[in-house]
Amino acid sequence: MRAIKRTPSERLWSRVVKTDECWLWTGTITTSGYGQLSRGRHAEGYVAAHRLAWELTHGPVPTGLWVLHHCDVRNCVRPDHLFLGTTTDNMRDMAQKGRQRGHPPFKTHILSREYLVREYFQRGRSSVDIAREHGLSSRAVRDRMDAFGLKRDIGFIQRTRLARRKAASN
Ligand SMILES: [Zn+2]
Repeated sequence: MRAIKRTPSERLWSRVVKTDECWLWTGTITTSGYGQLSRGRHAEGYVAAHRLAWELTHGPVPTGLWVLHHCDVRNCVRPDHLFLGTTTDNMRDMAQKGRQRGHPPFKTHILSREYLVREYFQRGRSSVDIAREHGLSSRAVRDRMDAFGLKRDIGFIQRTRLARRKAASN
């Protein structure tokens, strides 16, 4: 194994899937829906993926300010979807999201690996169905599953569903 340390920038952008709208972090996602990665050195701890994206673009975040999303997609790291806000802005933002009663608790989960695994593999929904719900093409949904390394699993599930359907119609 090579011990060459990749820069935070490399580690961030190598795990981002760019859609026409948002650029989605596909690595670790916290329970609150934000992307997260290590800063690199042990002592430096972890950083939210969108915060790191902002820092890499503009420099350090001023004390007391938060990096917030215009797009409301928490794992989005597209620099022009991010802006700085105060704690009050952040609270307002969170309160607004808390009021949204949709299926995904946060928009983060729309295209996260966890969301796709749950909806597609565990609940048995089709990619067409998921795509329609989020205003995407089914191709886009399948591309993203592929990006998450789920392609082989998709083939398996499809064959299983097809076999089941055939068995039911006979
Ligand atoms: Zn976005």
